[in-house]
Parts: sequence; structure tokens; C-alpha cells
Amino acid sequence: MNRLDSELLQRSFVKLTATFPKRLTSLYMSLRTGHTPLNKYLHRIGKIESPHCLHCQGIEETMHHFLLSCPFYQRERHILINTLGRKASSIPFLLTDTNATPHLVQYINASGRLKTTFGEVPLPRKPPD
Ligand SMILES: [Zn+2]
Repeated sequence: MNRLDSELLQRSFVKLTATFPKRLTSLYMSLRTGHTPLNKYLHRIGKIESPHCLHCQGIEETMHHFLLSCPFYQRERHILINTLGRKASSIPFLLTDTNATPHLVQYINASGRLKTTFGEVPLPRKPPD
């Protein structure tokens, strides 16, 4: 990623998370930095033995896998896709678009996968009119 892109992303991130409750901002930070407490990252920092997804043999549990392809969360993902359409398979969209935020949070809460770290993640507050 070049410098301009990362500056733009940084700025949009600050704007996006301005109305976020703290726990939601932490979740987004972890998703954006790749430090999400999923098995690939947990393995990299020496917390667990295997980077693989518990549900998919031989496949690393990355954020991409968790959000977009793990069959274990198919039902939750189906709801996300029904609501957001094709854009639901775009990580940049999911992580930067305010319209995606409540649905992404719902997906993550419903999956229960990040619950030990983030608990039940609160939705963003509505910006003042
Ligand atoms: Zn999986």
C-alpha cells in the first residue's frame, strides 16, 4: 500500500470511528491492523499452536477467511449478504463504509468468534442530525 493510500485510509478511519463506542473502535483497529485475535494472528504471536481455522482443516484462520469464506459462519454471512448485496464480500467496504458497520457488527456478534476479546460489540451511536 502506498503512502497516499494509507494516509487516506487513516483519515477515513478517524472519521468513521468518531462516533464509535470504545469497544467498537478497538474491534475496528484490530481488523484494520491485521491484529485480529483469530488463529493466524494468535499463532504468529505465539499464543496458540496452530494458525488453522478450527472448522476448516488446513486453512489458516485469517480475517478474510473468518469474514468472507469460513463455511461455519455461512448462516450469519447469508444475512450480511442479503442486507448488503455483493459489496458484503469486499473487506474495504465492510471496514470503511458507515452503512456496513451495523451489519458487520451483527455478523461478528452472531458468530461469537471474537467474544472472548471484545464481548458483545456495541453498535455505533447515530450521528447527531
Ligand atoms: Zn473456517
